[in-house]
Amino acid sequence: MYYAGPLARLIEELSRLPTIGPKTAQRLAFHILRLPQEDVARLAQALVDARARIRQCSVCFHLTDQDPCAICSAPARDQSVICVVEDPRDVVAMERMREYRGLYHVLHGAISPLDGVGPDDLRIKELLARLGSGEVKEIIVATNPRVEGEATAIYLARVIKPLGVKVTRIAHGLPVGGDLEYADEVTLAKALEGRREL
Ligand SMILES: [Zn+2]
Repeated sequence: MYYAGPLARLIEELSRLPTIGPKTAQRLAFHILRLPQEDVARLAQALVDARARIRQCSVCFHLTDQDPCAICSAPARDQSVICVVEDPRDVVAMERMREYRGLYHVLHGAISPLDGVGPDDLRIKELLARLGSGEVKEIIVATNPRVEGEATAIYLARVIKPLGVKVTRIAHGLPVGGDLEYADEVTLAKALEGRREL
């Protein structure tokens, strides 16, 4: 009520975003008002473009603007290894490390009975389908070292091992309860190197 309509609307939209409370929304809105018109247009366009053009890769379910994604379609990548992660941000963390040259599979979550998330709610069927060709020799489970991530790793080992594919789990150089995406490159590289068979 205290702000003119368009400003009130901007504050309201910003405050819908995660971690943005009313105070931060107000501060961002005032910042935006001070920007040159063309900077604001660029920001608005980036929001619209990202939402319109980014989708999930039909092979690995990473976020991409081309399908299959750049990683799935890179001929130099090792087609015999798939690293399974919970979230697209984990792919970015692994890529930043520059040690891993295989493929990925993004589950978009982890098994969590308490939250009602079962295997069918994740991209597990699609992962199993990728193993059909016989080209994949190893699945590296890089889910987060939390209860849900562990439950997911155990489930994956149970359904994948009978297919004759080796299943390994990254080592716990990672802080327990931590997120892959926050691990530094050295910790992550060590966790990958020290992976053990499930
Ligand atoms: Zn892909």
